[in-house]
Amino acid sequence: MTIKAKACRTCKSVIEEGNKCTECGSDALTTFWQGFVVIVNPEKSEIAKKMKVGKKGRYALRLSR
Ligand SMILES: [Zn+2]
Repeated sequence: MTIKAKACRTCKSVIEEGNKCTECGSDALTTFWQGFVVIVNPEKSEIAKKMKVGKKGRYALRLSR
């Protein structure tokens, strides 16, 4: 994880490169985010359910503004 990583405002995926979300295609990315979770098993993960995430990946916990 580099310091330049961005988080998607739409789906909260953490994006390490580029200016577009690789998951949902949104270009609404922010560098103002804190913490992330790795979802490996979305069907069984309580966190994934809470975050309404259906795919595995890395997701930012908190986005500012
Ligand atoms: Zn996205």
